Amino acid sequence: MTAPIDRIDQVYGKDVFSRRIMRQRLPKEIYKSLVRTIDNGEALDAQVADVVAATMKDWAIENGATHFTHWFQPLTGLTAEKHDSLVSPDGSGGVIFNFSGEELVQGEPDASSFPSGGLRATFEARGYTAWDPTSPAFLVRGDNNVTLCIPTAFVSWTGEALDTKIPLLRSMEALSKQALRILKLFGTDAGVSRVITTVGPEQEYFLVDRELFFERPDLVTCERTLFGARPPKGQQLEDHYFGTIPSRVLKFMSDAELELYRLGVPVKTRHNEVAPGQYEIAPLFEVSHIASDHQMLMMETLKRVAQRHGLAALLHEKPFAGVNGSGKHNNWSMASDTGVNLLDPQDETHTNLQFVVFLVAVIRAVDLHADLLRACIASAANDHRLGANEAPPAIISIFLGDMLSDILEQVEKGLPKRTLKGGVIDLGARSLPQLPRHSGDRNRTSPFAFTGNKFEFRAVGSSQSIAWPNTVLNTIVAESLDFVAGELEKAVGDKVTAARLEAAALGLLKKLLKEHKKVIFDGDNYTPEWHAEAKKRGLPMLQDSVASFQALSARKNYDLFKKYGVLTKAELDSRTHIAIEKYIKQVTIEAETMVSMARTMILPAALAHQSLIAEAVAGTEAAGIDDVDSRTSLTGFVGLVSRLRKATVALDKTVAAHADSPMKHAQQIKARVIPAMGELRAVADELQLHVADEFWPMPTYRDLLFLK
Ligand code: ADP
Ligand code: MG
Repeated sequence: MTAPIDRIDQVYGKDVFSRRIMRQRLPKEIYKSLVRTIDNGEALDAQVADVVAATMKDWAIENGATHFTHWFQPLTGLTAEKHDSLVSPDGSGGVIFNFSGEELVQGEPDASSFPSGGLRATFEARGYTAWDPTSPAFLVRGDNNVTLCIPTAFVSWTGEALDTKIPLLRSMEALSKQALRILKLFGTDAGVSRVITTVGPEQEYFLVDRELFFERPDLVTCERTLFGARPPKGQQLEDHYFGTIPSRVLKFMSDAELELYRLGVPVKTRHNEVAPGQYEIAPLFEVSHIASDHQMLMMETLKRVAQRHGLAALLHEKPFAGVNGSGKHNNWSMASDTGVNLLDPQDETHTNLQFVVFLVAVIRAVDLHADLLRACIASAANDHRLGANEAPPAIISIFLGDMLSDILEQVEKGLPKRTLKGGVIDLGARSLPQLPRHSGDRNRTSPFAFTGNKFEFRAVGSSQSIAWPNTVLNTIVAESLDFVAGELEKAVGDKVTAARLEAAALGLLKKLLKEHKKVIFDGDNYTPEWHAEAKKRGLPMLQDSVASFQALSARKNYDLFKKYGVLTKAELDSRTHIAIEKYIKQVTIEAETMVSMARTMILPAALAHQSLIAEAVAGTEAAGIDDVDSRTSLTGFVGLVSRLRKATVALDKTVAAHADSPMKHAQQIKARVIPAMGELRAVADELQLHVADEFWPMPTYRDLLFLK
C-alpha cells in the first residue's frame, strides 16, 4: 500500500481542468487568448471556445466522464446541475463524443423551478447559465459515474443575477478598484493590476451514525433534533476539543480529504471541535470566488463521503439543543495580485501606515454597515446559535487585540513628532511602532476578529454558502476605501509627497477612529454587561433573523449596492424575499415535523408507559396495599401527557395560521410558532426522562453524540 502522503501527491488536482493542463493541451494562441479572458476579462472568441470545449471533452472522456453539466449556485443557497450526455449517435450505429463551444459557454436550464424572489414571472422563466472561465472545470466522481462540471453564472435574460456568484464577482471588482486608489497614493501599486480578496473558511460539522440518523424523522427532514433531553455527559468535561480523533472518523476524514484533493481543494486542517461528535475541516485560503466554489464542493463532499462510511454529516447550525452549534469562520483579507497581503503589518513602517489605513477602513465599514453583516448571516438555523452562550452574539463588534488597540489609540491621540532626515521624511519607528505579525490573540466570543493578518468573520452559519457574506464584506469595504481614498486624494492634492500623505492619513485616521471606535470591543461578548454597553454605544441590536431581514430594505443599503454595481434594487429585493421565504418554510417544516412526531411517536410511547405505571398501581392496590407514591407519580405522569396533547394541538393550530405578507408571516412565526415549538419540546423532553427506555421511540442524544 502506498503511503497516504504519496497518494495525495498523485491525486492532487487530478480532477481539475487546470491551467497547467490547458497549457499542455491547448494550441499556444488559444491558450493565450483564454488566459486574457480569465485574467483581464476580455471577451471570449467563439472559435476559442470551440477549441477549449473539444480539448476539455477529450480530457474528461480520458478520465471516464460520460456527461457534462453547467454547475451553478442559484439562490437556494445550494448548487444546481443538469446533466447532459457527451455522447451522440454517429448515424451509423455507433456513438461519437460531442461537446461544442456553444455548449461550454451557455446553457439554458429550466429556470422556473429556482427561486428568483420575484425577478422573473414564471411564464417567462428564462434564465441561462454562462461559463465562468475564471473558475476551472472539474470532474465529480460518483460510484459508477463521472461528470464534467463547468462552473457557470446564472442570469435571467434581462441580465439580472439569479445566483450568488455574479454579485460576489462584482463585489470583488468594486473592492479592487477602490483599493488600487490607496495603493497608488502610497506608491505601492507598481506592477499591481488588481487587488483580490482572499478567503479561508473553517467548516464545523457533526457526524452521527447513519442508521440512527434514519430513525429520527427530525434529522432526516430538518437536519436537527427537534426533541431530545440532554445526556448526563454533554460537553461539560470539554474533553472532546482537540482530543484524539476516533478511528472511524479519521477514516472518513482521510477519504473526504482525498476526494477534495482530487478537486484541487487545498484542505489543511482537521480536528475535533468543542461538542462531542463535532469536527472541523479547514482549507488554505484562496481568492474569494474560488474559495466560495470550493466551499460548496467541500460541503457536498462531506455529505457524500459520510454516507460511504455509514455516517451522516450534519452541517446544520444547531443539530442538538444544549450542545455547541456549528459555524463557519470566514477568514478574510485583501491582497495585491503580486501577492502582498494588505492586512499584514509589514516591517517597514512606511507600509505600516498603509496597513493602518486599510485596517481603519475595515473598522469604518463594519461600524457603518453592521446591519448588513448581521443580515447576511441571518437564517432560522443561525438564530439558534447567535446569541446563545457559545457563539458570537447577534451584536456585531470588532476584536482587535491589545496591541492594535494601543496603536490606534496612539494614532487617535496624535503621534510623537516625526523626524526629518536629509529632506525625506522618515516614517520610522517613532511614528508607528513595528507590529508583531500575529498580534491578534484569541477571543472566541467576538463575531469579527482581527487575527494578525486577516479578519475572521465568525458569525457565519455552518450550512450557508459563503458567497453572500463575502459579497457584503467586499462591498462595504469597497465603499469605505472609496471614502478614504477620496479624502486622502483631496488632502494631498496633485503633488503627493510622503510628508503630505502622512499628515493627511494621520489626520483622517484620527477622525475616523473617533467616529467608529465604538464598534471595537475586546472583552467577553457573552456577558450581559456587553449587551448593556453596546446599547449605550448605539450599536444595532438585531437579535434575530426577522429583525435583520428588515435591514436589507433600508435606503442606505439599496444605495450602497447600487453605487458599487453589486446589486440593483430588484436584485437585492429578490434576495431579501428569498431569505424570508426560506425562514418561513424552514420553521414551518420543523413545526409540522414536531406535531407529527409528537402524535405518532412520543404520545404512543408515553401512553405505553402510562399503562405500565397504571398496571403497577392497580396490581399493588389489588394486593391490598395503599401505594400513595405510585398513585402520585401516576397522576403526575398523566398530567405531563395531557400537557403534551395540549402543546401538540396548540402548535398545530399556530402553524396553520396565515398572514397577508411574507414579512408578517415571518413575524408571526417568530412571535407564536417558535414559542409553541419551545413548549412542545419542553414537555416532550421532560417525558423522555420518565418513559422507560424500551418505549422511547427514537435514538437519544447519548446514542447520537457518542459515535461507536
Ligand atoms: P488560526 O489558527 O488563526 O485559525 P490559521 O493560519 O490556521 O489561523 O488560519 C485559519 C484559516 O484562515 C485558514 O483557512 C487559513 O487559510 C485562513 N487564512 C490565513 N491567512 C489568510 C488570508 N490572508 N486571507 C484569508 N484567509 C486566510
Ligand atoms: Mg480560526
